[in-house]
Amino acid sequence: MKRTNSLELSKRFDPIYPAGHSNFRIPMEATEHRVFVKRAEGSRVWDEDDNEYIDYLGGQGVNLLGHRHPEWVAAITEYLEERSPYFAAGVLNSRDDVAVGEKLLRHIPCAERIKFCLSGSEAVQIAIRLARAYTRKPYILRFAGQYHGWMDNVIGGQLNPTLGGKRLPVESPDSSSLDDPFYTRGKGPGSVEQSFMLPWNDLDALETTFRECGEEIALVLTEAIPTNHFCMMPRPGYLERIRELCDEHGVVLCFDEIITGFRLGLGGAQELVGVTPDIASYGKALAGGVPFSAVAGRAAIMDLLRDGRVLSPGTFNGYPMGMRGVLTALRILERDHGAAYAEMDRIQNRIEQGITEIGARRGIPVRVQGVRGVFSVLFGLDSGTELYTDEDLQQLDFGQLVKFWSSMQQEGVLMFLGGRWFMSIVHTDADVEQTLEAAEECIADL
Ligand code: PMP
Repeated sequence: MKRTNSLELSKRFDPIYPAGHSNFRIPMEATEHRVFVKRAEGSRVWDEDDNEYIDYLGGQGVNLLGHRHPEWVAAITEYLEERSPYFAAGVLNSRDDVAVGEKLLRHIPCAERIKFCLSGSEAVQIAIRLARAYTRKPYILRFAGQYHGWMDNVIGGQLNPTLGGKRLPVESPDSSSLDDPFYTRGKGPGSVEQSFMLPWNDLDALETTFRECGEEIALVLTEAIPTNHFCMMPRPGYLERIRELCDEHGVVLCFDEIITGFRLGLGGAQELVGVTPDIASYGKALAGGVPFSAVAGRAAIMDLLRDGRVLSPGTFNGYPMGMRGVLTALRILERDHGAAYAEMDRIQNRIEQGITEIGARRGIPVRVQGVRGVFSVLFGLDSGTELYTDEDLQQLDFGQLVKFWSSMQQEGVLMFLGGRWFMSIVHTDADVEQTLEAAEECIADL
């Protein structure tokens, strides 16, 4: 691997930008230098030293269409030949607004109305505001280990160790703050205390919290499948029970589909798990690669925006060039009854089975855990391990995971921190073969 330009650029980059390039504080580089992308096409990227990589980082979920999908590029180019990227939100609309809205209502089970915004964090905040306005109750219920954006009221907090009283989260003690990737100083007063934080898949904690405090909870906020937490599946019946408790106690259920939306299929996680939330947040892959996010939900809740009782304005909300991006992404994904998903499944299965097989043959325990379009490769866990709670992660070998991540990158395979892989619809059989060859070497070295 050539590194001369990457090292030189890293040296000039670091004094300018605190915290990587404007994302989390934890180091996201698998190598001692940063990767500077010079070109990207399909499932591949090339760095400033002309090293070629197969990309399973997937823009952390954004690049479901891969890089520069020709149909998406053509649609955006054609759009820009006719119009500017932006007109005036809420004043000047575009024909695409109608087409996109109609498609989303058709595809998303909970969608009777849509609201657009720009980032995933914003979409979550709109969902929270709507839920509080609708229920006139204060609290959010969320789950340890999940992530819903960087705002004060949803970032960080650790499980209250006593699990007594109101089961509110507690802040990480400052001394251990850097061990908690979601810890931040500088939050406003009371922000942590706005949520109950429960362990995922703990039915007792859920039932007790609803029984004791259900009348104060406005919103349950969760990924239906916690892709940000090792793709830890809900236990059978768990989401169904959350749905029932929300109904019994007048609580709004929000699925955060910022990663799962359109990645798990056109109907997202809610279609896969067969539980329909009241409201859901979307982002990442929605517009095929440009910033765009949305809240979709039941009319009774969303219409609070229409009658003016809830506000969520924003200059760039629903900007028309992004809208063309959504329309084009949906057209690509809808084609031939979702043929792109079927092909992505086939490629993903080959990778998952290949890695499992290499681990078994070499006597290295590895569990590939995931759903369509996103999975984690977890060393130290037996391939048959059912993964439902953090206790099931006790054997996870972080050292091996980091070593694999770093050595795979040096073999030309990019994946996300924590051993997470994001698929695109343009990964190929040639990618699989090259990936498994690299995995064979890297697993042998563990
Ligand atoms: N929710 C989930 C499930 C996410 O994965 C993320 C981003 N990783 C967010 C919310 C926040 O989205 P954004 O970074 O676009 O603000």
